[in-house]
Amino acid sequence: MLDGVGISWPGGSPENTGLILALIVGAYFVVLWFSAVVWTARDIHQRTVEPMAQLVFTLIVLIFNFPGLVVYRVLRPPLTLQEAEEHRLESSALMRELEQSPPCSRCGYPIAADYLACPKCTIQLRLACDQCDRVLDPDWRICPWCVAEIRIPSDDAPPPPPSAPAGTPPRDIVAQASRPQASQSASGATSVQSSRVPTFD
Ligand SMILES: [Zn+2]
Ligand SMILES: [Zn+2]
Repeated sequence: MLDGVGISWPGGSPENTGLILALIVGAYFVVLWFSAVVWTARDIHQRTVEPMAQLVFTLIVLIFNFPGLVVYRVLRPPLTLQEAEEHRLESSALMRELEQSPPCSRCGYPIAADYLACPKCTIQLRLACDQCDRVLDPDWRICPWCVAEIRIPSDDAPPPPPSAPAGTPPRDIVAQASRPQASQSASGATSVQSSRVPTFD
C-alpha cells in the first residue's frame, strides 16, 4: 500500500522498521544513561575527594540511571570543593578582620570594622549615617557616601529650659470671674466686681 506512493518500509519490512526504531530509541537512552553517569562522575569529583563516596554515587547512577540521578541530586554534598574553599576563605578573612580591628573598649570582645555596637556587652561603639545607614568613622564630619552632615549625639546636652505655659494668667482671671463670691474680698478682683455691679439692678 505504501509502495503506491513511492515509500517503502525502511529495512524492507515492518518488522525491520520496528527493529530500526527500537535501535534508535535504545541508542538514545544509552547515550542519556552514559551522559548521566559521566556527569555524575565529574560532579561528585568536584564535591568530594573521598574515593568511596565517588564510587558509590557513580554506581548508583550507573545502576538506577535517572531515579539514581534524582537520589544523587538529593544526597550529594551541597557545595563543590571550590565553593567550600571560597566559604572557608571568606570566613577566615572575616576572622582576620575581627582580629585586626580593635576589640571592645569595655569588655575586650573582638569587633569587626562594620559593627555599630559590641554584641557581647551592648555598648555603642560607632554611629550609622542618618541618611544611608552606613557605618561612620568617628573622625568623619560628613558621610562620604551620601554627603549628609554627621550629627554627634551628646549625652551631656542641657535639657530644654522649662518655658512658662502661655495662657495661664487669662485662665486665672476666668477662674476668678466665675467665682465672684470668693473674689469679693480679694484686692485684685475690683474690675471683676465692678463689672458685675450692674447685675444688681
Ligand atoms: Zn563589649
Ligand atoms: Zn550617609
